Amino acid sequence: MSPTPGVPGSSTATADVPDSAEYESALQAFTGQSAGPGHRAPDPVNLPMIRHWVEAMGDENPVYLDEQAARDAGYPGVIAPPTMLQAWIMRGLKASQAVEASRSAGEGAVVGDSPTDRVMALLDAGGFTSVVATNCEQRYLRPLVLGDHLEVESVIESVSARKQTALGVGHFLTNRMDFSDQHGELVATMRFRILKFRPTAPSAHQAEAAARPPRPRPSLTQDNAFFFEGATRGELLIQRCARCGTLRHPPRPACAGCRSFEWDTVRSSGRGTIYSFVVNHYPQVAAFDYPLTVVLVALEEGTRLVANVSGFAPGTVTIGAPVRVTFERFDDELSLPVFVPDPGRSTAPAGEAGGSLGTAADGSDERGDH
Ligand SMILES: [Zn+2]
Repeated sequence: MSPTPGVPGSSTATADVPDSAEYESALQAFTGQSAGPGHRAPDPVNLPMIRHWVEAMGDENPVYLDEQAARDAGYPGVIAPPTMLQAWIMRGLKASQAVEASRSAGEGAVVGDSPTDRVMALLDAGGFTSVVATNCEQRYLRPLVLGDHLEVESVIESVSARKQTALGVGHFLTNRMDFSDQHGELVATMRFRILKFRPTAPSAHQAEAAARPPRPRPSLTQDNAFFFEGATRGELLIQRCARCGTLRHPPRPACAGCRSFEWDTVRSSGRGTIYSFVVNHYPQVAAFDYPLTVVLVALEEGTRLVANVSGFAPGTVTIGAPVRVTFERFDDELSLPVFVPDPGRSTAPAGEAGGSLGTAADGSDERGDH
């Protein structure tokens, strides 16, 4: 018999048919139930925790630390920042880690058997496995003062009908926490609402997340634009002082040798050696592949430039390795020089690599212009 949508009848009915009436009523049955046993704050309201809180939050209201300022403001003494409410009843790191470990241990594994645990498990079983917090609303009935010792009771206030949201189909689950003091007097409430949902199109979301952002753009100036424009044409250009012929890189307005602002460019042979390199593992930027090898290449002409490499097996980049330039087109707007191994070439000093290159480094291009 083939499965019939909407008809529960097997143990997997809730997973297959989370919109069945039976499933909906099972969810609704949790409304109004205690979310779990009451919980007493580990510590009474105290000054050290307040001090850490206001420092972390940058809240400089004196009534939280200064007894006199608090009295002047009409309070019986120092009060706790109202928004610190939840901090008083937190269970601490170890308990939270235990919950997380149990939840990730396997399907259906939950800590304890509280109504909250069970409604969450039921939502998970229905395929509503994603969760996002949507609202937190706190109401303060009186200021908390030093020595107040809170106890909290949680109630599942509502489980919404199935809703279509921008994130996907899901149910809103609202818990209300009632905070009482050591005399049993209600001092605050907090409503915390989450959406448990099935992602609309997980593959689309994943594809979007995995989509590579464009490589960062160079910051173009009138001094460096030639370099990147040259790269789009497959030319590795070096800036040259038009007065004394000194080559320079990275591009800048004036010659360090003769102070001239006049310059032109020469086209590099694209051959060089690796002068230095780093292999970057972290931080990772989505536009790049990691580990990311960044090299400083000493060009035959004498200038150096920073670039990426291609065609090297992992870990094989070495100082002194001969390389030659290629140009990689990253997108419609950006091409950049990338260096590849050039094993056919001797790693002999530049002066012996070739007479013509040696003369180019001497500025023969400029002399040729005369
Ligand atoms: Zn110069």
